[in-house]
Amino acid sequence: MAVKPTKAGTRTRPTSTPTLSVVVPLFNEAKGLPALHERIAEVARYLQVKRGLNLEIVYVDDGSSDGTSDVAKSLPAIPLDIQVVTLSRNFGKEAALLAGLDHARPGAVLFMDGDGQHPPDLIDTLVARWLDDSYDVVYTAKAHRENEALLRRIGVRLFYALLNWGARHKIPEDAGDFRLLSARAAEAMRQMPERNRFFKGLSSWIGFRQVRVDYEPAARKHGATSWNVRMLVGLSIEGLTSFSVAPLRVASLLGVLLALTALFFGSWIVLETLLYGKDVPGYPSLVVSVMVIGGVQLILIGVLGEYVGKMLSEIKGRPVYFVAEHSVKRASESAKARPVTSRAAE
Ligand code: UDP
Ligand code: MG
Repeated sequence: MAVKPTKAGTRTRPTSTPTLSVVVPLFNEAKGLPALHERIAEVARYLQVKRGLNLEIVYVDDGSSDGTSDVAKSLPAIPLDIQVVTLSRNFGKEAALLAGLDHARPGAVLFMDGDGQHPPDLIDTLVARWLDDSYDVVYTAKAHRENEALLRRIGVRLFYALLNWGARHKIPEDAGDFRLLSARAAEAMRQMPERNRFFKGLSSWIGFRQVRVDYEPAARKHGATSWNVRMLVGLSIEGLTSFSVAPLRVASLLGVLLALTALFFGSWIVLETLLYGKDVPGYPSLVVSVMVIGGVQLILIGVLGEYVGKMLSEIKGRPVYFVAEHSVKRASESAKARPVTSRAAE
């Protein structure tokens, strides 16, 4: 089938075939990697024939301790080029995604997990929306969450409700990190200077033409998820504070609400004393109100602290990650390796 030129494709590479970099963050995924690579390579072969699409894969080893890097480096670079970026320690998935984006060649970029939960077969669908329908951001979303615990589903609902509360640009609910960005969308993502990154939010915030694709995530092939409740809460706070001032607004509203309640309660007591000659109620109501106000104040100071902490880490301006090793294996030539020390050094 002939390749239909897109806005994105024609912008960076007017004459050549469109290129796509597949970025895969890896944290202790050595076991399942060869099988995943085989599946991606199959899709790459298919896309090369069907659309003349030129694929490369960027594996980012996020400080794994199970030899993920070595496995990635030993994979066959057929029919696609392989880059292996080994970070100097575990920086977290968001940092790994940025490292992949920074190393990907100019052109479209596709992000997918390395645990087999993002089905490589779906790549074809994402590419079709990008090339045939000229979408810049093709993001996937879980078709449903029926297999998740009720508490988790409620948590997710609350998170998005708060995140999008009063926001001019809404971040789509349930959207995952499995997504394809056109060349210009990927370039926009590279221009975001912030260090506290919430990838899903950022790629929605940049705008351009976006489309949603529903999918059913597969079960993890090997190992266990590296996210626990503490980390999920951490990511949620990260997302909330980088994308909205809703928590601060909630704080102000709560303050107003408490002040109003106190006003009414106070007036009521005065009225009761004056009209009915009742005594002022004693300790219990006093202690309860002091505790409520004290607790609310502490929570709100914590919320403020989150934003102050974020400002501190942005001001420090540290690199998001360091690269310990970077190797490139071209489909045509043999492997070569070059050590790189940091993102800034490149
Ligand atoms: N991952 C990473 N660094 C981390 C944690 C995870 O690069 O510190 C990678 C992991 O190898 C996988 C992807 O991010 O490819 C998603 O991780 P996981 O499956 O643990 O998350 P979940 O699917 O449960 O959201
Ligand atoms: Mg997973």
